[in-house]
Amino acid sequence: MSAQTCSHLDQIELDDVPARADVPGCEECLKSGGRWLHLRVCRTCGKVGCCDSSPNRHASGHAREASHPIMSSIEPGEDWSWCAIDEVAFILE
Ligand SMILES: [Zn+2]
Ligand SMILES: [Zn+2]
Ligand SMILES: [Zn+2]
Repeated sequence: MSAQTCSHLDQIELDDVPARADVPGCEECLKSGGRWLHLRVCRTCGKVGCCDSSPNRHASGHAREASHPIMSSIEPGEDWSWCAIDEVAFILE
């Protein structure tokens, strides 16, 4: 782990990450009929997107397009977050 930290924590508007079981899937993939591997949620607006191992990488795409840098994994047993600008992973309290 690097000592680098995220400077965008003030952009977090979504306090609670949804449970994986309550989310139908990647919002964009559901619209386009795409497939996804793992899901991330935007911590600014709550949009659910697919991970960078998925073909369409909607979570990273959303982070870039909407300037919402912080996403969190909603996969069971995963509690890490990722800042797409600082490119740093961390665990939110
Ligand atoms: Zn950051
Ligand atoms: Zn997707
Ligand atoms: Zn967002």
